[in-house]
Amino acid sequence: MTRVANFSAGPSVLPVSVLERAQKELLNYNGTGMSVMEMSHRSQDFQEIMEEAEALLRELLKIPDNFHVLFLQGGASLQFSMVPFNLLTTNHKADYIMTGSWAKKAIAEASKLGDITIITPTNPLTEIPSYNQESFQFDADYVHITTNNTIEGTRFSELPNTGTIPLVADMSSHILSEEIDVNQFGLIYAGAQKNLGPAGVTVVIVREDLTNKAFTSCPTMLNYQTYVKNQSLFNTPPTFAIYIMKMVLEWIKELGGVTVIEQQNKKKAKWLYDTIDQSKLFNNHVHPKNRSIMNIPFTADCEDLNKEFLQKADEKGLKNLKGHRSVGGMRASLYNAMPFEDVKKLTDFIKEFERTYQQ
Ligand code: PLP
Repeated sequence: MTRVANFSAGPSVLPVSVLERAQKELLNYNGTGMSVMEMSHRSQDFQEIMEEAEALLRELLKIPDNFHVLFLQGGASLQFSMVPFNLLTTNHKADYIMTGSWAKKAIAEASKLGDITIITPTNPLTEIPSYNQESFQFDADYVHITTNNTIEGTRFSELPNTGTIPLVADMSSHILSEEIDVNQFGLIYAGAQKNLGPAGVTVVIVREDLTNKAFTSCPTMLNYQTYVKNQSLFNTPPTFAIYIMKMVLEWIKELGGVTVIEQQNKKKAKWLYDTIDQSKLFNNHVHPKNRSIMNIPFTADCEDLNKEFLQKADEKGLKNLKGHRSVGGMRASLYNAMPFEDVKKLTDFIKEFERTYQQ
């Protein structure tokens, strides 16, 4: 069976070499005679997997020692609640920059626990302006942003300057896709199922001083301190997902790390944006400075044409190109593991479709 070109926004394509290794080790991991799925999370073999996963993430993102790396469950969506439970605790005020559907969900959860000020860009679907200290409440407990907006296809090209107020970022759809300076953040979170591995594990990178501020009423499982004290082993972690994530991190390291991945991602995204920009049928409306390099929406003016494109693309093995229902049209997600050949297949198909249409 040949693999299709999978443009899914998540869960999404994984490196073939990682899947093959998982397949090889499925019944007998490292001579243990059992699968990682069947192994105690307190066994030596699994402990090593966890430690290596953390060490690799620290190395790839250059995470400073005063940050904890936590492996949690509940997806990025649970972080929408965990963040306020842990951080909205001093002045009970936070600022959220509203850049799309996921930011809106984060705002909805935080609003249950404190006083949230929503900052909405003038054209949230197409442009994210720059923000400086004056843009925020001086006594906010934190400022929350969604650095890459999976549905809208926008990305912060410039981080807000929040001064001493901790910056909290949902990086679910572009973590490890480009270099970041972890020191600019108080907390970063990401569900794994796009750039890190399979669904099931959520990574939180949090500055030490932000891990002991939770409300006293905060449930144990929602308190970062629980995971800090127990090295993410307070209860059974998503063992198989962490094992695959470790291999994805090894794959990134072998490729040359985040610098190389970033160059590759920018090249893949440029191929597609250039094709769309040269097209007479399709458009991407995002301001060039805020164009995501991971999620690229494009649409024709006519709904029938979008439908026809999606159907023909699907027949050609170009899968999961349908845009999110709130945006319509198409969306190609080009995460780290998306092969160059598959992006080429898509750009060739767009050109071919346009030629046939014009005849
Ligand atoms: N935040 C962003 C930016 C996302 O893209 C997603 C999922 O696509 C989520 C949050 C929700 O993630 P999860 O399904 O892991 O809760």
